Amino acid sequence: MSIPETDLMGWWHLTPSGQAVIDEQGVVIQVNQTLSDWLHAPIDCLMHRPASEIFTPEARVLYLGLMVYRVAERGSADEIHLTLQVKGGEPMPVLCSARQIVHQSVRFTLLSMLSIVRKDYLERELIEMRHAAQRALAEKSAAVGELEALRDNLKAQRTTLEQANNRLEKEALSDALTTLPNRRRFDQVLDQWLREASLSGSSTFSVAMLDIDHFKPVNDRHGHAAGDRVLRQFSELITSRLRNDDLAARIGGEEFGLLMPGAGTDAAQYALERLRHAVEIHDWNDLAITLSIGVTEYRPGDIQESLMQRADDALYAAKRTGRNRVVTG
Ligand code: GH3
Ligand code: MG
Ligand code: MG
Repeated sequence: MSIPETDLMGWWHLTPSGQAVIDEQGVVIQVNQTLSDWLHAPIDCLMHRPASEIFTPEARVLYLGLMVYRVAERGSADEIHLTLQVKGGEPMPVLCSARQIVHQSVRFTLLSMLSIVRKDYLERELIEMRHAAQRALAEKSAAVGELEALRDNLKAQRTTLEQANNRLEKEALSDALTTLPNRRRFDQVLDQWLREASLSGSSTFSVAMLDIDHFKPVNDRHGHAAGDRVLRQFSELITSRLRNDDLAARIGGEEFGLLMPGAGTDAAQYALERLRHAVEIHDWNDLAITLSIGVTEYRPGDIQESLMQRADDALYAAKRTGRNRVVTG
């Protein structure tokens, strides 16, 4: 079936694209109904007007500068993004293509426009969604940053707390005047050694009690501060003379305890005799400082009380028999 040309001309008005025919002077000589509808302007008003007037001022520049120029150069132009000036309405984006035709030696230009309102709308929506996603991402990273700062803060606080705790623990187990381990620490370590010894069935270590001779007169004659100085110097002296594994603690007043791992009575007595001698010959700023020592080794079945009792008894014997000596028990 063939359609008469006159009918086709009628359909031209209804085609879903805007159509216009432009003469050589750039004046509109034909417009279809669709374009007239888009522009909200009757066909009569559009005829015989410069074609550039159907576009917004910005699009007009593009139309004249690019589209018209390209058609003159190559005879055609494709898919140029322009905007229609709609009477009393929103400007309307279109994709515009053009073809030059020659009819009876006269040049005409056919303009064809596709509405891209929906495409523009979708693009704007897409851009909006991308912005929203970027905002969400930025908010998320800010929240993550805040959380990380909080976590770092907590970590720092925990470290400070741990340090304070360690310091307190250390303080609780050491003597303030001499910084030596205190009686609590001494008892802890001895208790542990005794438990290990009873588990293994046999163990070699010695316990010694040290007491400075006639210390009271030092305080009485030279003052408490001088007595404190002696106690500090005495602590430094004994720690510098002991083996690394030995533990020296201030048990109270001018009494000190020694735990000597791996040493039986003989080895302990030998080491303690040297220590006693070192104290005796040390320069105490015109003071005469000597030391009485009682020492005993671990015997299977010993508990803290039995071991300490023997060491104390030996110390008492050292005092009774003239001081400045080592007695084994
Ligand atoms: P002994 O030879 O029998 O041990 O006689 P001593 O004088 O050393 O013993 P005593 O137990 O009679 O006196 C101990 C003295 O130690 C009493 C006290 O003035 C002194 N003392 C105890 N703790 C401290 C202290 O922390 N600083 C000072 N400066 N003196 C102390
Ligand atoms: Mg004493
Ligand atoms: Mg004493």
